[in-house]
Amino acid sequence: IEPIHIIGGGMAGSEAAWQAASMGVPVILHEMRPVRGTDAHKTDGLAEMVCSNSFRSDDHETNAVGLLHWEMRQAGGLIMEMGDRHSLPAGGALAVDRDLFSADVTARLEAHPLIEIDRGEVAGIPPADWSSVIVATGPLTSPALAESVRGLTGEDGLAFFDAIAPIVYFDSVDLSKAWFQSRYDKGETEEERTAYLNCPMDREQYEGFIDALLAAEKTEFKEWEGTPYFEACLPIEVMAERGRETLRWGPLKPVGLTNPHDPTVKAHAVVQLRRDNALGTLYNIVGFQTKMKYGAQAEVFKRIPGLEGARFARLGGIHRNTFLNSPKVLDGEMRLKAEPRLRFAGQVTGVEGYVESAAMGLLAGRLAAAERLGAPLASPPATTAIGALLNHITGGAEAATFQPMNVNFGLFPPLDLGIKGGRKRKRDRARAYSERAKQDWLGWLGKDAEAAA
Ligand code: FAD
Repeated sequence: IEPIHIIGGGMAGSEAAWQAASMGVPVILHEMRPVRGTDAHKTDGLAEMVCSNSFRSDDHETNAVGLLHWEMRQAGGLIMEMGDRHSLPAGGALAVDRDLFSADVTARLEAHPLIEIDRGEVAGIPPADWSSVIVATGPLTSPALAESVRGLTGEDGLAFFDAIAPIVYFDSVDLSKAWFQSRYDKGETEEERTAYLNCPMDREQYEGFIDALLAAEKTEFKEWEGTPYFEACLPIEVMAERGRETLRWGPLKPVGLTNPHDPTVKAHAVVQLRRDNALGTLYNIVGFQTKMKYGAQAEVFKRIPGLEGARFARLGGIHRNTFLNSPKVLDGEMRLKAEPRLRFAGQVTGVEGYVESAAMGLLAGRLAAAERLGAPLASPPATTAIGALLNHITGGAEAATFQPMNVNFGLFPPLDLGIKGGRKRKRDRARAYSERAKQDWLGWLGKDAEAAA
């Protein structure tokens, strides 16, 4: 059998190599370190954890990232096996001894008879005779490879920075204050004319909001992150620093909107939220990319009328991050539409985090190996955590505003349980999503539920 070439021996590439080799398909894993480094990696180990040493919550009953752990364990994932072996006490989270973890992943891959590790950069489009390739080069993909991928995807197909506006769960927005309407009721269909949620501010609320923005604690760009801002995605607090009225002339302009809760009062400013996924469970706050610290963000954004009780699927940020506009350029099995022999996995596909990246590596490794063996696999259902992530990046997310995403229950097809609000109820809902996911994941793996338990 001809080998699969995997580029990048990080979280995703290491897991992809393990999965493909476990299915009996030879792999050549190309890792550029130590021949060429990145600005964040410090070692030449595979699956290096570049910053925190945590795989986050290990609660697979009520937490979406814990559920990802569970799914990967059921699939014989190497990253989870090594994470478990080198875990450190950390309450409900799975923290890991990063050096032992990376050393053990490296040793396991080196020892596998079907895996060859080639230390060197792949500095452009892979040679034509590599008929199956997984690109798992991560947020710090080497510039030469990134540029050549961009040549295949077009300029808007690959970004070098993320500019993440906070994302709110729809069911936490107060609809007695917010309303649905597109500016000037623009749109051909009812859906388009109601694509935005609007939160009105009076003068006093606006002035208080600007004060809070200016006072909030910010994080600084690291030196290696280079050119700070593109004008098109200035952090909201930087816009506010340019003048107290700047936001009212920018993303918070109050024109073309009528508040049905009180049509006689003209809002001084309006914050808009735009639907972020096809399911309508997530909304992003338009224009609110930010470098404020997480604690400060939650405090400041809850001042917005209608968002007092908001729960955030993710907070905002701006980082150096190479990622594809996956909803536009990848097919449903993570292959580049323009060149299907190239499959992508990990953070470069627009998922975020060690666990999510490893999960997408696991899936890419299995899909590529099955294809190689002449028995292509169907993608996992969107009701599973891995399927929900895949569905989000390859179709569910809006291409126009696509930004990297952590796993969360907002990505799952809703289950109507007749449950509303409340902390306990939220847990019951999460439990129901997890149970459905587990059943469907075992089904996809062809595993018997009793044997799995
Ligand atoms: P990586 O793990 O980065 O692996 C990509 C690999 O590809 C690297 O080993 C790189 O050397 C190699 N490579 C790149 N280009 C080439 C090429 N052309 N040829 C050959 N090899 C190449 N996530 C968290 O969950 N928690 C955190 O605390 C956290 N902190 C982060 C801090 C920073 C500074 C950055 C940049 C990211 C952080 N992330 C964090 C995100 C984290 O990087 C990813 O979630 C995860 O490591 C991505 O996995 P990956 O396999 O996609 O990429």
